[in-house]
Amino acid sequence: MPFELPELPFAYNALEPAISKQTLEFHHDKHHAAYVNNLNNLIVGTEFENADLLTIITKADGGIFNNAAQVWNHTFYFDQFGKNKIEKLRGQLLVAINASFGSFDEFKEKFSTAAKTLFGAGWVWLVKKPNGSLDIIQTSNAANPLTDGLIPILTCDVWEHAYYLDYQNKRPDYIENFWSIIDWEIISGRY
Ligand code: MN
Repeated sequence: MPFELPELPFAYNALEPAISKQTLEFHHDKHHAAYVNNLNNLIVGTEFENADLLTIITKADGGIFNNAAQVWNHTFYFDQFGKNKIEKLRGQLLVAINASFGSFDEFKEKFSTAAKTLFGAGWVWLVKKPNGSLDIIQTSNAANPLTDGLIPILTCDVWEHAYYLDYQNKRPDYIENFWSIIDWEIISGRY
């Protein structure tokens, strides 16, 4: 099978209390794993059988696109959490945040509002545009900014499976606690 489920880069309880061990067990071991398995099954006998993930995301549609993008999105989401707190937000990314949004607090407010108001299932992204400036966008379902020529820097999964076990209908509480587990060393490196 060409695609494998990446292991979580931290312990299942490492993000508590913001995201529980139980949520990570379902989100990674069930949901993320299912997207990998679905993708491996769907590409058999197609032009994408030996393609890499980015090629599939930029060229496929339908179920193959949906599962490939969800594999990429979840790996990107899980990889951004860790212990390097806000003091590690540095260099060009901090300059770009201030230039694009006025201040870090204004960026955080705008991103949080986008995450709270996204209707249905989807993702909110901090993206780098071709000119180096930053923007915040919402995508529905599996959609990924790479297909629009935008470089993802940070993302929040607002599908209900990302937070429902811990927060039920209180998506704003999940988003508020999301900020406490982001590894800003990793995010700064992505810019
Ligand atoms: Mn998810």
